Amino acid sequence: MRRRRVAGALDIFLSHENYALLDDEQTNQKIRRFADAAPLHVEVGSGRGGYLCQMAKRHPDRKFVGIELKEELLMAAVRKAAEAELDNLVFIRGYAENFKTWFEGAAVKTLYLNFVDPWPKRRNARKRLTHASYLQLYKSAMVDDAQLILKTDNRHLYLFSIVELAKYFKVVDSTHDLYAVGDPQNVATEYERRYVAKGKKIYRIICKIEE
Ligand code: SAH
Repeated sequence: MRRRRVAGALDIFLSHENYALLDDEQTNQKIRRFADAAPLHVEVGSGRGGYLCQMAKRHPDRKFVGIELKEELLMAAVRKAAEAELDNLVFIRGYAENFKTWFEGAAVKTLYLNFVDPWPKRRNARKRLTHASYLQLYKSAMVDDAQLILKTDNRHLYLFSIVELAKYFKVVDSTHDLYAVGDPQNVATEYERRYVAKGKKIYRIICKIEE
């Protein structure tokens, strides 16, 4: 996701104390306190937070966590959350590489990957957030009946991800054109809105932990 450099973005993010977590030795403890033993619904690469804010509004009984690298996007995300006075959503500033540390002892019930970077060159395949090495990290914190849901506009990422996901999960549903199939429960992300407006097709894969 593109960002405009904003001076002080990290400070603004951090000033929203109820919503902002950094990647440090307290992250795991803070996540578990936030969860309070409830299952968590996590988006990796949460961008400007539009998706999670909508989901948190729609499901006040669920707890959501966004993971994002870029402070300009995190700044926008916490502002949205604060404006909507949400109390069931937090954002971690950090690399998904550290997923396992943050969620150790927590119960991840849904893992959302929405429009993650496709890294089209083969030599960059390991950077795709659906690469097997990431899937193992996510899976380590997921509960038995957890789901992983991927949405993308990118055919190559879709095809790559189907193969990777099948190594650790059971693919229970996949579509090449979410909007043709229709799903009344679907919440569009910021990227998704943009792609749909351009007439692009949206791919979706839903997986479960294999029994
Ligand atoms: N989910 C949003 C944004 C998609 S863009 C939407 O659908 O609108 C993908 C996002 O993933 C970018 O904001 C990027 O900064 C973030 N990202 C990429 N690699 C990451 C990593 N290793 N850890 C955490 N976030 C990452």
